[in-house]
Formats: sequence, structure tokens, C-alpha cells
Amino acid sequence: MNQPLSIPAITRMVRTEADAYLLLEKLRWGGEPTTCPQCGESGRCYYLTPTNGVSRKTRTGTTSQRRVWKCGHCRKQFSVLTGTIFHGTKISVRTWLLVILEMCASKNGVSAREIERKYDLTAKTAWFMLHRIREAMKLEPLAGLLSGTVVADETWIGGKPSNWSNAKRRAARPRWEYGRTDKPVVLALVDTDSGEVRSRVIPNVRGNTLRAAIAEHVEMGATTLVTDEAKSYKQFRGEMKGHETVVHSAHQYVRDGWTTNAAENYFSQLKRSIDGTNHHVSKEHLPRYLAEYDFRYSTRKITDTERMVMLAGRFGGRRLSYKPLRGR
Ligand SMILES: [Zn+2]
Repeated sequence: MNQPLSIPAITRMVRTEADAYLLLEKLRWGGEPTTCPQCGESGRCYYLTPTNGVSRKTRTGTTSQRRVWKCGHCRKQFSVLTGTIFHGTKISVRTWLLVILEMCASKNGVSAREIERKYDLTAKTAWFMLHRIREAMKLEPLAGLLSGTVVADETWIGGKPSNWSNAKRRAARPRWEYGRTDKPVVLALVDTDSGEVRSRVIPNVRGNTLRAAIAEHVEMGATTLVTDEAKSYKQFRGEMKGHETVVHSAHQYVRDGWTTNAAENYFSQLKRSIDGTNHHVSKEHLPRYLAEYDFRYSTRKITDTERMVMLAGRFGGRRLSYKPLRGR
């Protein structure tokens, strides 16, 4: 993109729905499609110019400014929306572009309520659009492992029990259950060189649970893990290249240059977003919100436009239908 994207810029650039398709083609394909989304064949796609130059008739008899391409190999038609998170959408591409930019550009995210009001959508549509965008923000399936120095820390969404006041503990649980909670635990792993963060919901903070989650994202033998003094990490420290701890209970925040600040900064941003924007995030949808926060946080050093181009590269091959999302 040679032009920085902003809400006014998109509004200016996108006068018609055909303009919106063109901009999305530019974001996703850098111009023209190189491979067919239906058969995967490359180099044989051509644009179908509408007979009247502007719009084409649809099956239902209305006209549409959808830009249609054809694959010379499988002879099937497709558009920039085929096989993506937008598949089957009835919302204009223009609205999609604006909402995607809002999701990419606002530090604390945007709420479905806000989008509903601003773009005159139904609550259900706005909610579903945001979840489709979050689907694209998810980590790519072939993303490599983190290595080097990785900070690991956990937090309870809704407050860490060890930070609760005595009154809150008394009110929340019977005495023998102190320190236990049904609030979701989130583990964050921050690569201190690249700034990339990967977070996920874990069922508990026992050693084997943490080890499994870390093994999935971190090249253990090539990584020095930095954590607080939590005992659970000690169970598998032998498998790591190194393990450094910072003793928070002794008010130690930096020890010999080691610190878990990177994870704490991420968590404070995450909590600000949850409290300020999304208010309540259900346990069921928390992983998708984490994907959103991870994506924005990991790319915080690049511009909104660069972030949007990066996200556009992930629109394909990810579909999200309403049923699996709400059907459970
Ligand atoms: Zn094809």
C-alpha cells in the first residue's frame, strides 16, 4: 500500500462498491490474483469485465458491482471474497474495510455495540463480523516456535487469587479453597527479541499443564525462560536452555537484567481492553479475543496500514460460519 489507510482515507478512496473490491484486491493480492482459490492453479486467472462496464446482473435479478475473476484452468468464477472470512457475507465490502481498520487501529479494540451503532448494523451482524476478523487474527497454523529469551507468566481474568483481599477471598470461596478459582487462567509467552506474544487459556497452573503449553510454542532446548518464582516452572527447567526467575514476593522486579515486565505489560493492556471495551468476555469466546490482542500487541511497532496489509494476508483459508460459533 503506497497510501496510508485511515477512516477518512478509505472513505475518500472507496466511492463505490467496485472501489471497495479493488482496494481489498490490492490488500490481499497486491493487485491481481496469482492463484485460483477453487483449484489452486496459478497464473491463469483473468478479470471478467462487466458488459456495461460497471455492474453485472446477479442470480436474483439485482445488479452488483462485485469484481469477478475467472480461472482459465477450472473455468470457475471467483472474487476476492471467495474462500475467505468474508465468504457469503451480505455486508458491503466498504463496511468490512472500515470495520477491519477500526480493529487494526484501536489499541483497545472495538466493541460490537460501537460497530452496531456506527455502521447501522444489527447487533448480531456486528458481533459476528468482529468474530470473523478475530478468526483472521489467529496465529497462522505454520507459525514457527519462539526461541531465545521468552518470558512466561500467568494471569487470572478477573484477578489473581493471590492478589485478592482477604474480604474478597472470604466472600468468594470456602476457606479450604483459597487460591483456587473458576476464573480462566491465561498463560502469555513473550519473545523478548521480536516482541511477539502468544497467549492462551490453560486449565490450571500445574507443572505438566504449563510444560505442554510451552512445548507447543517454544523451542525448549534453545530458550531461556524468564518467570516469576512460581514453583510449577521448576518441574521442567532441565529441559530448557536456561531458567531465570524474578522473586516478586520479595518486591524484586529486575534481577541481573532479567525481568517479566514484557508479560506484565501485555496483561495490563489485555485487561484494559477487556474492562474498557469488551466489558465481559465469556470463557467460551476468550481464546478468540486473545488472538485479537496477541495480533495487535505483537504488531504494535508497525503502522496501522502495515498491520491491515498483514491481516489481509490471512483472510484466505479461514471461514467461520455462525453455527459452530453459536451452536454449542
Ligand atoms: Zn481454478
